[in-house]
Amino acid sequence: IEHLAERHDEPLHPHQREAMLTTDGPLLILAGAGSGKTRVMTARTSHLIRELGLSPRQIMVVTFTTKAAEEIKHRLARQLPAQQARELVAGTFHSIFYRMLLFHQPERWDQQRLLKKDWQKWRLLRESNAMNMHAEIGPRKENEVMDALAVISRWKNEYLLPQQAGLREANDDAERLAQLLYPYYEEAKRRTGWFDFDDMLIGCYELLRHHPDILQRYQERITHVMIDEFQDINRIQYETVKLLAAPQNNLCVIGDDDQSIYGFRGSDPQYILGFTKDFPQAKTITLEVNYRSRSAIVGLGFSLIGHNRARWQKDCLSFHSEEGETYLFEPDDEEEQAARIVDEISHRIREGTPVGECAVLYRTNESARPILERLSEAGIPFHYSQEEESFYQRQTVRWALAYLRLSLDPDDSAALKEILPTLYISQEMWNAVRSQAILEDVPILHVLPGMNHWKPFQRKALKTITEILAACASCPPAQALELICEDGKLRDYLKKRAKERDGGRERWSEELQQLIAAAKRHDSVGGFLQYIDRMVQQEKEWREVQPLPGEGVHVLSIHRAKGLEFDHVFLPDLVEGSLPHEYALDAVRKGNNAALEEERRLLYVAITRARYSLSVGIPRERFGRKTRPSRFISEMGR
Ligand code: ATP
Ligand code: MG
Repeated sequence: IEHLAERHDEPLHPHQREAMLTTDGPLLILAGAGSGKTRVMTARTSHLIRELGLSPRQIMVVTFTTKAAEEIKHRLARQLPAQQARELVAGTFHSIFYRMLLFHQPERWDQQRLLKKDWQKWRLLRESNAMNMHAEIGPRKENEVMDALAVISRWKNEYLLPQQAGLREANDDAERLAQLLYPYYEEAKRRTGWFDFDDMLIGCYELLRHHPDILQRYQERITHVMIDEFQDINRIQYETVKLLAAPQNNLCVIGDDDQSIYGFRGSDPQYILGFTKDFPQAKTITLEVNYRSRSAIVGLGFSLIGHNRARWQKDCLSFHSEEGETYLFEPDDEEEQAARIVDEISHRIREGTPVGECAVLYRTNESARPILERLSEAGIPFHYSQEEESFYQRQTVRWALAYLRLSLDPDDSAALKEILPTLYISQEMWNAVRSQAILEDVPILHVLPGMNHWKPFQRKALKTITEILAACASCPPAQALELICEDGKLRDYLKKRAKERDGGRERWSEELQQLIAAAKRHDSVGGFLQYIDRMVQQEKEWREVQPLPGEGVHVLSIHRAKGLEFDHVFLPDLVEGSLPHEYALDAVRKGNNAALEEERRLLYVAITRARYSLSVGIPRERFGRKTRPSRFISEMGR
């Protein structure tokens, strides 16, 4: 905390001061990363309270991520008495809007439950049988429905209700299915008492639209509205804010169009770029000095983002004359990459860097796991999001591990039960085998081949797998996994299953490769399984016991790192398919570059989180496949 305190006492730049003092009417602060936008927002808030005598209850301060909201509250708590800091209306859109809804419509919102994840929505649809209700919808694959749900969410954020959405011309299959499912989805939620995140936004907008008395009370009470990270606002949020800020329009919006990274949620940088059209009387202030990053890091960021077409050109000077440190390193694979990152982090810590000033930022969670494991082996505490799905709980991984367990202990009935579907053996057949095994008093695996009424292919599959498992016990674990996947046909099964359920998405194959890569570090199956058990246990602890704030390395997705800063930033996996992500490359192949520009903005956000050093890993191989360095590397001027 001391570390932070110093930095906030530096004098404001004249442009920053001007922004702080401009308190009447609409104000746009448009500036690059690290230029002190958020600092201006907090300075402006405390100026309104301390110098102009406003009550904190009059000021609404909004941002986009919980982390950023915490950071702002934390900064303000240093500048204001605790009581006042608490009274501010500050937080994310969702938290502020949800509180309003609970207050005004408790009977509606208190009783309902929140659908947090896409798969929950998918289940709701399936259970309500909506997918089969309509001849046109018919039974659908999980991934098709997931894609359609993403479209529905985007529409809701654009305030397109089912009827209007249904009238639009659909651009692709996902949109066509979304048009069909949307009314059923809304109906299913209403009937079963669920709501989703988007409903909070729509609910709040409609609350204010349909209740002029409530709106008026808010308009009178809240005299100043400030929104950080305004580049990520979407239509429904913007419309609600406009209602609240009227009629005085003391609305201050702050952002950087180069950091717009929530396109998939309907956010649109056009709102920040078009703000002065909506509010012609708005004043615009730009900030041109980057106070955060050392000059070489600022240089990399600007060189990269200059490759985007759709952007507002801005200047950026580096406040610091030192260069800082930038590294590119090319490890053999993701495991070596993890080892090097963790070595470097322990080195920094030994040199005196506070642990909380090191951050590993990743594009997708696959990149995080090897690093988390190494950190944990090295005994370095870290902050890790509760929301990430556990690697070892994924179905593919559980199957592969169950096979390994069986190779050590043919009697492990839990493991055997787990793998039955992969051998096309049903629950009833399994029960019969179990009773037989109890009768004969032998391991289950031994009675299986004798089940004469089974189909020949099932008996054959079992015989093969029994032999393979026997051979596995004496192999090193990576080789055992290869045997199970190839000769044991697990790979064929997974491929087939993915085709049926997932439209052939290849996630399973990466998961297997990851597991095999981890197995390579162990000599015996037993040793590897013990290691996994430890990891599963540890993962549970990672989630339950987080270090105190600032006392662990931050391991987070780039999306969650927005607005934050760290002394040393590590970016693993700067390879094609990871960053830029495969989705974006797909879109480029279809002639659409917008997604690629968003990936570039993501990397720009990641680079500009660093104060002193930036280390970029480019593994030559990832999950057993050769890689190509990200196209962004050369665009960074390296
Ligand atoms: P981002 O776009 O990443 O959200 P930002 O524009 O919000 O960045 P801040 O987080 O407000 O930038 O500031 C970046 C860093 O620069 C902070 O550590 C802040 O304390 C420091 N800083 C801001 N203004 C000044 C100044 N005038 N003098 C010295 N340091 C400053
Ligand atoms: Mg900021």
